[in-house]
Order: sequence, then structure tokens, then C-alpha cells
Amino acid sequence: MQVRITVSFPYEAPVSQSLFERASAVTPGGVNSPVRAFRAVGGTPRFMVSGAGSYLTDADGREYVDLVCSWGPMILGHSHPEVIAAVQEAVSRGTSFGTPGAGEVELAEEIVARIEPVEQVRLVSSGTEATMSAIRLARGFTGRPKVVKFAGCYHGHVDALLAAAGSGVATFGLPDTPGVTGAQAGDTIVLPYNDLEAVRTAFAAHPGEIACVITEASPGNMGVVPPLPGFNQGLKDICSDNGALYISDEVMTGFRVSRSGWYGIDGVRPDLMTFGKVMGGGFPAAAFGGRADVMAHLAPAGPVYQAGTLSGNPIATAAGVAQLRLLDDAAYEKVDAVSAELRALVTEALAKEGVAHRLQVAGNMFSVFFTGADVTNYDEAKAQESFRFTAFFHSMLAQGVYLPPSAFESWFVSTAHDTQAVERIAAALPAAARAAAEATE
Ligand code: PLP
Repeated sequence: MQVRITVSFPYEAPVSQSLFERASAVTPGGVNSPVRAFRAVGGTPRFMVSGAGSYLTDADGREYVDLVCSWGPMILGHSHPEVIAAVQEAVSRGTSFGTPGAGEVELAEEIVARIEPVEQVRLVSSGTEATMSAIRLARGFTGRPKVVKFAGCYHGHVDALLAAAGSGVATFGLPDTPGVTGAQAGDTIVLPYNDLEAVRTAFAAHPGEIACVITEASPGNMGVVPPLPGFNQGLKDICSDNGALYISDEVMTGFRVSRSGWYGIDGVRPDLMTFGKVMGGGFPAAAFGGRADVMAHLAPAGPVYQAGTLSGNPIATAAGVAQLRLLDDAAYEKVDAVSAELRALVTEALAKEGVAHRLQVAGNMFSVFFTGADVTNYDEAKAQESFRFTAFFHSMLAQGVYLPPSAFESWFVSTAHDTQAVERIAAALPAAARAAAEATE
């Protein structure tokens, strides 16, 4: 989405600008993941050179309080000394063996110990791989072709899961990304989020054909839109009644919103789950797991093939184990408290300027919608005045606070967000709220 910029850029970032020009010459759009570009908000993406605690420093030497936390993983802040030490120790023993290793067992045991429905787990390298593998397994296990997903939920760039249907109730997802064929998307049924009736209707229309329903445990990829009470349980029940698997994608929420992720909050028991982000401690590690009888269908135990040269990489597993072991109850209490404090400050600043908004929360994840109505699905999310976010974002950036460069993303905090960081954000908010109030489309 390209928007008209209604704010000026009173600050410069010449080194980032020059890096961006070099990057754009050799990399499409100058970035290796589209969310990093500033396309939705305009301006030059900041090229970061270091991170320490809750701060990032860019190539121009400017420091920012980081409210992105690498899109979730850095729940202990950047360069946590114990995670760094674990990485250094692992690196000193070698970087990849292509054999089983003790670190993989330790990480799998940490996951299984924290998330009761996960009896067995397979490690992979990205959340995309995790969801791709989980739906393949669900199809292999049930012998059925179709997958239900919800508009506005993101499960990585898996062909079959990119089908997102533009608006309203869409029964069959058609490819809306060039390169995804009708065949790849044709077995994907895209439904509106938080609408159990639509799910029942889809199952009635396709008896014996739906392998699984995949949902973000609590969506954070259309902004934060938590499930309405009973929605996840309803999905689970419909799946159970129809012989389909309920897959809860906890790549974002897993080990972040509680020690057991969103499962620790709503207690709805999935058949399969996917994880990533926090469990890798800032390295490429992800996982899918769940019922042992389902996981037994995976190669080499069973016939559903899945593999990876760098799966369970020793550096990534060392970082993940170190991070998870540091995430005790006190750590979650701290992240929850910082999140609550920031939410109150944001609400106060926007209310003072009379800006219509909804601050939506899922555990310690939150985001601001610039709208006067609650947001329960993707259409409602898209109806917000995102031009106000653009002005808000740039004001915060200019004042040294790094927000996700999109109105449709969760904000993330960490145990490292201390009083000083919160004060810096608090000081930036009044001007940002004013900019949002004054913004025009
Ligand atoms: N699932 C969810 C809920 C996510 O938020 C993401 C990434 O943001 C993914 C899957 C894909 O993970 P990755 O970017 O590691 O491939």
C-alpha cells in the first residue's frame, strides 16, 4: 500500500539513505522482508547497526527505543548477556553438523514442558516452514485436501496460506499474489475472522474434505484482534465434530504472551501448534508439534515428508534454550507491566488530543487502531484511518521511538524496557498524538 505523506521529515538519515540506495540496487525494494520497508508510511527505512536492551542504534548513530523487538523474538531485549554467552559458547564448538545434537533435544524438551498439548515437536528454521509443514501433516494425516484460514491472519508466505480474499465472506481463496496458482490456492477456504457461523457453513458445504482449520492463536498480523470469547473453543469443537485438525499458529504469541503462549491464556487444546520468534532467541528457529499420534505420521517415523539441512541448528537452539530458560514468571510479569504502562500512556495521549482510537490487547501484545469502533476482523481493521498512524509513526521516529512501520502490526515490548525507556516514550507521545490529530488524508 502506498500512501500520500502528510508529514514532513525534519530529521535526516544520510547513512541509512545511502545504504538504502545501495540495497535497492541489489535487492528488490531494498529489503529482505517487505515489512521492513517504509512503503506504508513513507520515508527511508533505518538501517540498524546494534541493539542493547530496549534500544537500537542506526547507521547514522541515532538511538531509538525499540517497540518492534525484531517483530517479537527479542522478549529479553537486545544482546542479553546470558543469551550472547550461550551463543558464543555454542559457536566455539562449531556451527552446523548435519547430525542430531543435544541442543535440539533440550529445546524440544523446553517446548514440550511448557505447552501441554505438544507431546512431540519437530524443529524447523522459520515460522513459514512450521505452518507449511503443519498443514502438509494435517492433509497427510486426514487424507483430505482443504484448509480453512481466516482473512487477515498471516501464517508466513506459504503458497496455500497467502490466499487472503479481499473482503467479506470468501469461500474459496483465489490467488491474490502473482506466482500462487489457482491449484495451490484452490484448496484454501478463506473466512472472516471471529465468525463461527461461516466456519460451520464451510464444513457443511465440504463434508469430509476439510483437513484442518489454521488460525493465529490471537491474531497480531492485522493489528491486534483477539478472538472473541468462545471463538477458539468453537473452532476446536467444529474441527473435532468433523474429523478435522485444529491448528493454532503461535509463531507470534508462543512464549511471548505467557510461558505457554496463548494456550496459557485461553486453554483451548489444539491438535497441532506452530512456533517461531521467541523460541529462537533471535536466531532462525521455529517448530511445529502437537498430538503424538499425528506427529507419528512425519518422516522418518511415518510417510509425510519434511526435512531441513539447518533444522535444529546448534547456534539457534543454544540461543533458544537460553532465552526460554530465562523466561520465568517474573519475566512475564515485567513484560505485562511495561505493556500495561505503555498502553495507558498511549491512550491518555490520544484521548487528550481527541483522536478516535481503539487500543487492542492480547496479553502483552497491543496495537492502536485509528477508528472509533472495536475491531474484530480484517474488514474492520482496514476501515481505520491509517493516515493518522503515518503521522504518529513519523513523529515517534523523529523523537527516537521505533514503532512497526505499519498500522496493521502488533507492538512488542521486552523485559529490558525500563523506566528510562518508558519515560522516553511518554515524552514523545504528546507530539505524536497531536500529529495524528492534525493529519489529513
Ligand atoms: N505465523 C505467524 C502468526 C507470524 O506472525 C509469522 C511471521 O510474522 C509467521 C507465521 C511466519 O514466520 P516467519 O517470518 O519466521 O517465516
